[in-house]
Amino acid sequence: MDYSLPYFLRNFTSNKEFILPDIIQLLPDNIANQIAAGEVIQRPASAVKELLENAVDAGANEIKLIVNDAGKALIQVIDNGKGMSDTDARMCFERHATSKIKNIEDLFHIKTMGFRGEALASIAAVAQVELKSKKEDESIGTYIEIDNSVVKKQEPVAMERGTSIAMKNLFFNVPARRNFLKSNPSELRHIMDEFIRVSMSFPDIFFSLTSNGQEVFHLERATLKQRIVQILGNSYQSKLVTVEEQTDYMNIYGFVGKPETAKKTRGDQYFFVNNRFIKSAYLNHAVMGAFDSMIAKDSFPMYTLFIDLDPAQLDINVHPTKQEIKFEDEKIVYAFVQSAVKHALAQFSISPTLDFELDPSIQQLDAVSKPFTDEKKSSVASSSLYNTFSQKNQAHFIENKSELKHWREFYEPAQKQSSEFSSSTTIEDLPNPLFPEKNIEVSDESPLQQIHSTYILVQNDMGFLVIHQQNAHERILYERFIKAVEGKPIAIQQSLFPQTIELASADVAVLTELLPDLHFLGYHLEPFGNNTFVMQGTPADVEQGNEKAAIEKMLEQYKHFSSDLKYSKREKLIRSLAWQQSIKAGKILTQKEMKSIVQELFICDTPNITATGKPTYTTFKKLELDRMFGR
Ligand code: ADP
Ligand code: MG
Repeated sequence: MDYSLPYFLRNFTSNKEFILPDIIQLLPDNIANQIAAGEVIQRPASAVKELLENAVDAGANEIKLIVNDAGKALIQVIDNGKGMSDTDARMCFERHATSKIKNIEDLFHIKTMGFRGEALASIAAVAQVELKSKKEDESIGTYIEIDNSVVKKQEPVAMERGTSIAMKNLFFNVPARRNFLKSNPSELRHIMDEFIRVSMSFPDIFFSLTSNGQEVFHLERATLKQRIVQILGNSYQSKLVTVEEQTDYMNIYGFVGKPETAKKTRGDQYFFVNNRFIKSAYLNHAVMGAFDSMIAKDSFPMYTLFIDLDPAQLDINVHPTKQEIKFEDEKIVYAFVQSAVKHALAQFSISPTLDFELDPSIQQLDAVSKPFTDEKKSSVASSSLYNTFSQKNQAHFIENKSELKHWREFYEPAQKQSSEFSSSTTIEDLPNPLFPEKNIEVSDESPLQQIHSTYILVQNDMGFLVIHQQNAHERILYERFIKAVEGKPIAIQQSLFPQTIELASADVAVLTELLPDLHFLGYHLEPFGNNTFVMQGTPADVEQGNEKAAIEKMLEQYKHFSSDLKYSKREKLIRSLAWQQSIKAGKILTQKEMKSIVQELFICDTPNITATGKPTYTTFKKLELDRMFGR
């Protein structure tokens, strides 16, 4: 060979009869499958997702997931679904083998979970698979063993209706991928995420997850609300607010956690579109917006929301592993989700004195932590726990206030017989107090009552409200100030004899920063040199005379907030001012003052809670009062 020639010419000179070789060849099936498999099965969790979805599609109402070594050694899904014939059992591992679509149109109307006929083929390409399956109407099932996409064995097997697929030693034949897997805890976390997403969206299916022989999840069939508590924990019991709106265009339903359950870490947030888990920063933003001032800025509310809409309104990304989605009209969906959540939040009120908590020792009991099946019901009926329930009807609760011993009857819907057994799961279904008090009318005929110089009693058709005057006024001022800095400045009255305020040097810097916002809020201050400011104007509706003290107190409160880095300067200023200017508890109010608090409170966007999360009022329903007195 003439090495002086360029590479591409060498062959021509060294071999006169040189024929340009055909260089394209078909990859052997198993390699092609391995490559394609990489797209569908990236890690144990992706296989888990596919297998669980297949089991759901097969109509199972009981699905068990078993993993060993975070799925690296074994992933097995056992279902009691419709099963497969022995031909189908062999066929299902072929690429593009699917019973779910017949033509391209079907792709756009697909209701089932997986839809490309790729999952099992991919799994068979990268693991050793054992499948057992039996259809209802067949007397015997079929057992298949596959290695490297090749059927090694098929034989009859005795079993119940359903399917079990076990995949062992994932990526045993693709070491590069196997090495790429993360630590067991990390892979197991991914598996649990997938497990939760599927089990959350099918609460009427029993699911369990066993990892290295230990049952991690055991989720009896339940309502969605119960399923959320099963998965996310009892701390959400009685802390979930129902979201439900229906329109011709789309429906939304599900639950959001009450503001006090918001956490410092994102986590308990789930969106499902047409029952499929999706990630959407956009929709997440819509929900966060609905919580707005009800939770701290850096905290995350819990939500599990299901959106159903015509698949034609979705830009379907048919790739099964994609969790992203695009809506034809994003803005409508955004506005809809946000207003649905806002509406839901507006309809509940936190009633701390009526709140209850499960005794932790009782929460652990299966009867309480797991939902009720009929057979369980009968076995529990004979236990002493049942007797405590049925006799006292509230034995497993700790009341916060002794005078509210009968809170339970207080909430219980009137038609419910007290002798009827109610498991803990019905407690969370107690009616959420609904608050139509936005339409409250304060008439001159029925004067308002103030008690303990702190609470205002307001009667309405349904019962009465108890309003905390300071909390309510803080809310009113807070919203007024927010509107002011957002461009609806508060009227200023010019001071006839401008006062000067002298501050410590450290405070001068603080106040200087706040001057523009303060101006919007009705305080017109100008620097006058030597740590001095002149007060040129004050809010029109604030009494004149104490402006100086007001500013000083406000600064004091502001500095108190200052360590709280999560709020903007403006937010801190507004909170400080709202607190500083609010009517305090302990002040005797005139009819006129009470009336204006009540009226202004209920035109607030978020009337039920202060900016810092304290309730502003609580409601007592006449119906419930009557029941308390045996009427
Ligand atoms: P796809 O779900 O997209 O159809 P898969 O590769 O996941 O593709 O499954 C192929 C086919 O195998 C399915 O269409 C279904 O007919 C059958 N199948 C898979 N898993 C099960 C199961 N657990 N029970 C019954 N049939 C199943
Ligand atoms: Mg599938």
